[in-house]
Order: sequence, then C-alpha cells, then structure tokens
Amino acid sequence: MVTDMKKSTIKKKLNKKRLILTIILIILIFIIIYMLLNNSKNNNLKVKGYSNLEIKEIEKLTKSEIDTILKYDYNENLIYIIKSDNYNPNKLDMYLKYTLKYKEIEYLKIFELVNNKDFNQDKIDEYITLLKSYNDVNSIVKYVNDLKSKNIELNDFTISIINEKYFIDDHINRYLNYYNDHTDLKPSEIITRVNSNLDFTFYDDSNKADLSKGMYTLVNKFYYLDEDYVPDDLVDITGIYARDKAQLKKVAYDNFIKMADTAKEVGLTLKVTTGYRSYNFQSTLYNNYVKIDGVKNADTYSARPGYSEHQLGYSADITNKNNVSFDEFENTDEYKWLQENAYKYGFIQRYPKGKEYITGYVFESWHYRYVGKDIAKYIYENNITYEEYYEYFLR
Ligand SMILES: [Zn+2]
Repeated sequence: MVTDMKKSTIKKKLNKKRLILTIILIILIFIIIYMLLNNSKNNNLKVKGYSNLEIKEIEKLTKSEIDTILKYDYNENLIYIIKSDNYNPNKLDMYLKYTLKYKEIEYLKIFELVNNKDFNQDKIDEYITLLKSYNDVNSIVKYVNDLKSKNIELNDFTISIINEKYFIDDHINRYLNYYNDHTDLKPSEIITRVNSNLDFTFYDDSNKADLSKGMYTLVNKFYYLDEDYVPDDLVDITGIYARDKAQLKKVAYDNFIKMADTAKEVGLTLKVTTGYRSYNFQSTLYNNYVKIDGVKNADTYSARPGYSEHQLGYSADITNKNNVSFDEFENTDEYKWLQENAYKYGFIQRYPKGKEYITGYVFESWHYRYVGKDIAKYIYENNITYEEYYEYFLR
C-alpha cells in the first residue's frame, strides 16, 4: 500500500517535470521562430538596400509598418519621413508609393501633400502636375478641390492654363469660358486676353480707376477717372524740354528731365508735346476727332473723356527738335533711342506695336507712361503691356 502511494507520487512528480519541460520547449521554439522571422525581416530590409543604421531605425516601427516598407523598393527618404514630426503611420503606404512614383518631385512636397487634410488620392496626378510649377502645397490642394466643387474638370487644357506664367486663380472660369468661344487660341493667349479684360467690352464694362494705387493707377478703356479729377503736384515743363508748355507729375517730370539730358549727350532731343490733359480738354479733343472720323475710328487713337491716361499726369507724348508729327516720330533716332533706354528712367511705351488688341489703341510710338524703374524694366524685358502687368502684379 505504502509502496503504491510512493510510486504514484513519483509518477506525479515525473509528469510535472515533463509538463514544465514541454512548456519551456514550446517557449524556446517560439523564441527561435520569432528570431528567425525577425532575422529574415532584417535580411529582407538588407536585400532592399537599407543600411544597418537605417534598419535600426526601421526596427523601432510596428510590425505592420515594417510590412508596408517591405512592399516597396528601397526609399532613400524613408528615414527622414519616419523621423519627421509630421509622420503619420497610417499614411506610410502613400508616402512610399508616391515618393517612388514621382522621383522627380522633391519628397518633402509629396510628404506635405499626402499629409494635407484635404488630400484626395484620386487627384494625386493633378496635384503632382501642379507641384511642378507651384511650390505651395496647401494652395494646390485647396485649388484642386475648389475646381471639383465648381465642376471644373482638371484636364490637360485646364492644367496647361494653370501652369501658365500669368495665371490668376480667380479668373479660372473666365479663362475656360473664353476658351470655349476661342478654341483656336493657345493657353498663353487666353491668359493674356482675359487678364486684359478682353472678355468684356471696352467702355461698356468699365469701372472707376483705383486711385489708391497711386502712381501705378491704371487708366484705360476699362478704368476711368472722374470729370473733376486733377492730379496734385503737377510741374510745368518748358524751355528745351517742351514743344510749347506741358505739365507732368513731379516724379514723372524729374525722370523725364534726366532722360532728356542723357539723350542730349548723344545728340538727341526729347521734348514733351502733351503731358497732363484735363477732362474738358480731352472732351473737346475727342469730340473733334469724332466729328472728323466717326466714333469707331476716333476710338482707335483717341481716348474718350475720363479714359485718357493723360488725365493722370504720368504720361507724356514726345517729339524731337524738329517737332516731327506723331506719325513721323517712329522714324526718328529719338524713337530708336527711347525703345532701348526709356525703361531705365521708368518710362514704358504704353501702346506698342502688335498689342493693339490689348490696349485698344493703334501703335503710338510717341506716347510714354511713367511707372517707375522696376516695373518699366520688367515690362521691357518681358514684352508685356501695362494691362497685363497691372492685372497680375498690382490689382
Ligand atoms: Zn498720348
């Protein structure tokens, strides 16, 4: 009986030992499997091309993040991405997918794009196309979504319009409408025309000139001055600088004198025939032209009262020492010199050849407008009109 009991106790003890051993063995097997798996993950990362240092960083991520990384080829920006303050593990897949797909785009921009709260995966190609010309990710995303809400399709044409140099967000609908009526025009031509308001009608669709722009105020067939508008600080131009007597705003006067003095050094004479013109004077002038030529013709070379830039005081009609007529001025050395030098004194040729459809005036070789040196230089170098410059940079 006693021996039987002893036997049974020994048996129990043995069973217990076996059980413990089995458990240890199972744990050991798990550990080995885990280590093997882990090692193979390391190896996989190595095979992808990640360095030991990079792998060390990657190993700090969760298993599912590492699995995501293993789905893609080596990504040289991965470490920067996962260590960034704005890193979002849920977006890791997109970071990797798009930085690899669009290697030509700086990864930070794509990172920022994917992080944007309004980011829409279906629009990624459009965003990226825009990223090539725009730096500001936020405005691109907002923009693409705005278009969507306006039911504007972002096709090749809209993208080429958007990528144009003088594209203005606010005008997108006007560009597209204008294009519908003028499908023969190139995107750049659509931009030029709409930015110059040519989708509106001269005079009929005009507004008061924005005098808060000071010396940059635009006066043309869309922007007029009131009848009683008279600029302050007008200065008389007399003597060798004027044909008879004229007036200009002080700043325009000072720069005209400098320009005329420099021209004098190379044997040329610049004289102002008309500077400032009052509303009433313009009224008489224009009405006379209408009597002779009719409204349609008069409108091509004379401004209606209120619509003349001369009323601003920054414009000068120029002639030479022989007092050649307007028509002849184009053939003078003075005109040639002005073409190359006027911008250095802040003057632009206001109604150039080839831009008649924008300005609404025939080519006026004699008419110059003071806009300051920086703007004059830009307009000279980029061969644009003041209409285009004003709309894009100043309005
Ligand atoms: Zn003029």
